[in-house]
Amino acid sequence: MDNTLINTMETLFAPVPTDDVAEEPVLEALIYGSRVLTNDHIWRSCTGRRYKNGVEYHGPVYTLGKDVVYTGARLCGCAICQADVAPRHRKN
Ligand SMILES: [Zn+2]
Repeated sequence: MDNTLINTMETLFAPVPTDDVAEEPVLEALIYGSRVLTNDHIWRSCTGRRYKNGVEYHGPVYTLGKDVVYTGARLCGCAICQADVAPRHRKN
């Protein structure tokens, strides 16, 4: 076979990058000053500091066991975390 055909076949049959084999994210919550590994079920309902793959995460919190956004007080005062907090629980 000539090189052009070999190059074409290498291109056609090259492995395609995919997200299908992406690993589970590492989910941690700060509890009494220590980062603790949690599962997704608990992590999504933590109102304190949360970390996803080692990076602090800011986003909605859900009522434990439900797909309902939690509107109670949150530890983090940033705009993203405070967005879903009921006005009476919001940080000043
Ligand atoms: Zn935040």
